[in-house]
Amino acid sequence: MSNPRRCVALLSGGLDSMLVIRIMQEQGVEVEALNFKTIFTCCQDQSSQAARDLGVRMTVVGQEDDYLDLVRKPTFGYGKGANPCVDCRIYMFDRAKVFMDQVGADFIVSGEVVGQRPMSQKRKDLNVISYHSDLEDLLLRPLSAKLLPKTLPEREGWVDREKLYAFEGRSRKGLIKLAKQFGFEDIPTPSTGCALTEPRFSQKVFDLIEMPTLAQRWDFELLKHGRHFRYNPETKVILGRDLEENYRLVALHEAPDATSTAILCPENYYGPHAMLVGPPHADALEFAAALTLRYTRDVPATPRVRIDTAEGSSVVVAKAREDADQIQTVATM
Ligand code: SF4
Repeated sequence: MSNPRRCVALLSGGLDSMLVIRIMQEQGVEVEALNFKTIFTCCQDQSSQAARDLGVRMTVVGQEDDYLDLVRKPTFGYGKGANPCVDCRIYMFDRAKVFMDQVGADFIVSGEVVGQRPMSQKRKDLNVISYHSDLEDLLLRPLSAKLLPKTLPEREGWVDREKLYAFEGRSRKGLIKLAKQFGFEDIPTPSTGCALTEPRFSQKVFDLIEMPTLAQRWDFELLKHGRHFRYNPETKVILGRDLEENYRLVALHEAPDATSTAILCPENYYGPHAMLVGPPHADALEFAAALTLRYTRDVPATPRVRIDTAEGSSVVVAKAREDADQIQTVATM
């Protein structure tokens, strides 16, 4: 075997990706870890810690705005939520291929297990992902390699196929056993770490992308904050759920790429801040002001709200409205 070869390993910080790195290290392959971050993913600390534990260098790559195109309209559809996993994996591997060339690595490894996840890890999906990311022969899945056609690293003897695995299905027993053999002290619990797989967050994503205006990055960022109320197809009101979120909404409203048109702050009562996204018509502003009353315990006789728009600031008296009292959130998470 003509080692050392170098590979790029996608590292999420989950057990599967950690095992894959250790398997490569056991075979004498040098590993460059790559963590893919989107505005919907979390767990950066977990992947950094995993890289430290495994003794590999990790590079974080972020999504570009074109990632949102595949969230809006994925070629291969969604999973149970708004997760376009097959498209997302293709996108990740596209980036990984560029990185592989930059660092002079020979191939890519990832922790996919045949049949482990309903979307993106069915055998057919794995083929689709390899094919469309233009990596086919250079993408090795060590945990299920023995169930899959031989890749170039195996044919060339860069890795020993006999020392790879044939894991299949959702059970984690075999993976945990292997982790113990490798002496892993902390075994991460399974989690996608991706808000797009969460049902309530997905409702907000679908609400956004089904609207006539093309949602931009800022609009997707906003989904992570506050209670969202759909007033009409063009207009949404977002309420802060606590003091921190109130400040966050104000900061988001002031961001250069903000598409919000007004921010409403109670002046003489403790209530949520409200952000308006959509045309700041008088009726929509009244509705937003009424919503702040709905989440206020002690409403004064004359509840005043300051409204900041591009036209300037004004103070109005908020009035309760039946539609504001009855409307349901799109989702609160
Ligand atoms: S769970 Fe999220 S980050 Fe992971 S593949 Fe699916 S869409 Fe991409």
